[in-house]
Amino acid sequence: MPENASPACHRIALVGADISGSLSPALHEREAAALGLDYTYTLLDLDRLPPGWQLRDAVRQGVTGFNVTHPAKQSVLGQLDGLSPDARTLGAVNTVSVADGRLVGHNTDHSGFLAGLRNGLPGARLGRVVVVGAGGAGSAVAYALAGAGAAVEIADTDTGRTAALAARLTSAFPAGAITALTPDSVPAALVRADGIVNATPIGMTGHPGLPFGTGALTPRNWVADVVYRPLDTALLTAARAAGCQVLDGGAMLVAQAALTLALLTGAAPDAGRMQDHLSALIDPRTEPSHV
Ligand code: NAD
Repeated sequence: MPENASPACHRIALVGADISGSLSPALHEREAAALGLDYTYTLLDLDRLPPGWQLRDAVRQGVTGFNVTHPAKQSVLGQLDGLSPDARTLGAVNTVSVADGRLVGHNTDHSGFLAGLRNGLPGARLGRVVVVGAGGAGSAVAYALAGAGAAVEIADTDTGRTAALAARLTSAFPAGAITALTPDSVPAALVRADGIVNATPIGMTGHPGLPFGTGALTPRNWVADVVYRPLDTALLTAARAAGCQVLDGGAMLVAQAALTLALLTGAAPDAGRMQDHLSALIDPRTEPSHV
């Protein structure tokens, strides 16, 4: 039973900056309608809120749950009454439930990545996986993979971030094998890796290119991207050409949205239906070019 399953009316808000183009309202509201829920999903842009604004102000105005995105995933922690164990270890939340006046933070980014991977690439081996990018998405991805038993090798151009994430994961999974890589050693790491995940913004609209050299990819590697605008990135095109199985960023986006919807309402979203809806929302014919 989710902590706030009681309200018949679900008034969910996304808190973050630069969110006017977010696909989440459409994704959530259409699935909620299909489930017969009384559910709205609105945007609370931090750039338009008064200084000192708090989640609790929105709760007083009727909000019953939150999604949280950049740059608030860590900054809202001090406003919460509790954290799920995963959110506590990650030090970041993307979902906040409200029950009996208590705000509790959760993280469905990591569980969403793993669910999307298991669903989209069911046979993917998780022996050794390279994660490129140690920011918000990379932390969630690396945490999910380490929790699933993978040896995780992390690379970020910001070597301080790489080291901090490797240390955090080693402390969370003392029996695991977590390694910090330099970005230029990623191609060599591919030789011993089963899979590789791009968790940098490289490849998204406005950030063209490849996040790492793809010349060493072979058909034994699977390649996942967290970038979802566009769904088909230059990395996935190169990986497909090298014979790799690929997974686009829509898988993580849909799975985390489905997990959040389930957490906040107690309903059972249909991830396949949400995936079809996302594909229609991100129509390559209407998206700006990424190259
Ligand atoms: P972030 O800024 O927190 O982290 C990005 C990291 O990538 C930074 O640490 C940066 O130093 C590193 N980086 C950039 N270029 C690099 C390179 N060539 N090699 C190695 N490291 C490099 O950003 P974020 O919030 O983690 O978002 C990253 C991407 O993930 C964005 O495109 C975002 O839209 C996407 N995202 C997708 C989902 C999803 O559900 N699919 C969820 C969250 C974020």
